[in-house]
Amino acid sequence: MASTTHAATAGATLQDQQLQLVTGHSIVNGQISTQGEDPLPFQAFASPSGVPIALSFHAASASEIEHAAHAAWRAFHLLAQRTRDDRALLLDRIAANIDALGDDLVAWACAETGLTAARIRAERDRTTFTLKMFAQLVREGTWVRAAIDIGEPTRKPIPRPDIRRMLRPLGPVAVFGAGNFPLAYSAAGGDTASALASGCPVIVKGHPGHPGTGELVAHAITKSVAESGLDPGTFSYLHAGGPREMEIGAALIRHPCIRAVGFTGSLEGGTALAKIASERPDPIPVFAEMGSTNPVFLLKNALQSQGDSIAEKLAASITSSNGQMCTCPGLIFALRDDATEQTIRHLATLLENAPPQPMLNRRTMEVLARRVGEVTTTEGVELRAGRAVVVNARNPTIASGPALFRTTLASFRAKRTLHKECFGPVAIFVLCETEQELLDAVALTQGSLTGSIFAGAMDATLSAKVQAILEHRVGRLIFNGVPTGVEVCTAMTHGGPFPSTNQPHTTAVGALAIERWCRPVTYQNAPDQNLPDELKSENPLAIERVVNGVETRAAV
Ligand code: NAP
Repeated sequence: MASTTHAATAGATLQDQQLQLVTGHSIVNGQISTQGEDPLPFQAFASPSGVPIALSFHAASASEIEHAAHAAWRAFHLLAQRTRDDRALLLDRIAANIDALGDDLVAWACAETGLTAARIRAERDRTTFTLKMFAQLVREGTWVRAAIDIGEPTRKPIPRPDIRRMLRPLGPVAVFGAGNFPLAYSAAGGDTASALASGCPVIVKGHPGHPGTGELVAHAITKSVAESGLDPGTFSYLHAGGPREMEIGAALIRHPCIRAVGFTGSLEGGTALAKIASERPDPIPVFAEMGSTNPVFLLKNALQSQGDSIAEKLAASITSSNGQMCTCPGLIFALRDDATEQTIRHLATLLENAPPQPMLNRRTMEVLARRVGEVTTTEGVELRAGRAVVVNARNPTIASGPALFRTTLASFRAKRTLHKECFGPVAIFVLCETEQELLDAVALTQGSLTGSIFAGAMDATLSAKVQAILEHRVGRLIFNGVPTGVEVCTAMTHGGPFPSTNQPHTTAVGALAIERWCRPVTYQNAPDQNLPDELKSENPLAIERVVNGVETRAAV
């Protein structure tokens, strides 16, 4: 029988059998939950067509939130009794079960976000790679930073106690994913992977922009939890959308069983959720990865020697995933001269010729239209290339072309609206008159995930001065490269000072991300049977040991 095609989009369609993979209900304590006392249906919309997807989603009820939180609390204590190999196996299984979703997952993610199949496949591979990276980290074990100060009962005048310390999990974690990464920063994204790796159960608050994709991934995680013989409360997924959407997130954060929050999204969302967490009777940490302007500094010799190629790299980066990347280069700074003018002209032509691309959803498009409007009407700013975003009732299409603005450092300094993220394919070129102005510009930029310096051989002195200031404002410094493309590896940092995050000492990507869900616990004079495996005297793990103040490494 031929299947019907729904929600036609430019490149993505959902077949009947793909629609049937998703129930529209939350997954609580290992079960599809239809027990909600307040199941208000909401819709997902295909991008760029704006057509509603033919399935109703039910926002989680108060009792479902309660059930998920208590199940997670129970699971937390049971997970603590399992080995690190059990957790590693769970992560590997999740990766395999996500892969097994195959093209159905790709079709859902493309339909709900308007992102291309190639981008979604790459994001899926990155997601499963991250899961496997954390599995490896957990198996290897030294991430817990175990330290042992062996006691000296005979020490005079008082005995020296035996002191052992390691990182221990905080408890159930609530994860809020972002609209622009339906896989890598969502249900099974870096926050979920690192929290499960650390031994924390996870409750995901689904993103209303891609509820079907989120639920499909949640099924893969739930299946993996069952296959691993772990408690079903280890993972729950709550649908959230419609009028109660924000209420669900807030109720989850306020729940006493939740011990930490991972958030990826806007500055407004991250700060609102951090406030809720800080107002609890027992405040809990919120690790909010938020918006970023990712300043790029183009130095003179680099522009003279490779201006056209820099413009091409920037154009590709600005339009990658239609600029809906937390690492999109939003601010570009350079000294005013002929080479700079030529680079601006070339960049403007490339962006002018770039076709409109889908945007994630109507709200993202409306927010972008508002920001572009603010920048366009700012005194001293010229629209150098691109079209305005078209949002009106008669235009259902969810798409936008890029825009390039040009201004001076004086205007940039005076107008705070130019310092904020424009989430979409938009960049502002800021011209400086002197090297001192360029250094002032570095100091004016706010906290960002990344900062880039394009420098030629003759720019070494200025490059070092820019770096010295920029290093304090960003999480990742890039030389002669654009910020898009975050490699998942041990040494990666994806974080930065406020407003790019609210916790500048942490990262959302890379091995260190696991430490967000832990705290150091010290055991004094504990009998071996009361110690976690990593701290037991006979444990052959290659852990840090501090014997009488001298750090050593135990033999494996
Ligand atoms: P968003 O609007 O902040 O949404 C993120 C999640 O938080 C959604 O589930 C959202 O639900 C919820 N939320 C937001 N405000 C809330 C509130 N006051 N109370 C309860 N829940 C709330 O962000 P987005 O549009 O999905 O993503 C785009 C943003 O994410 C951009 O700024 C981008 O730069 C940033 N981002 C950052 C990173 C990073 O690593 N730093 C990575 C990717 C994206 P609703 O949608 O219903 O409000």
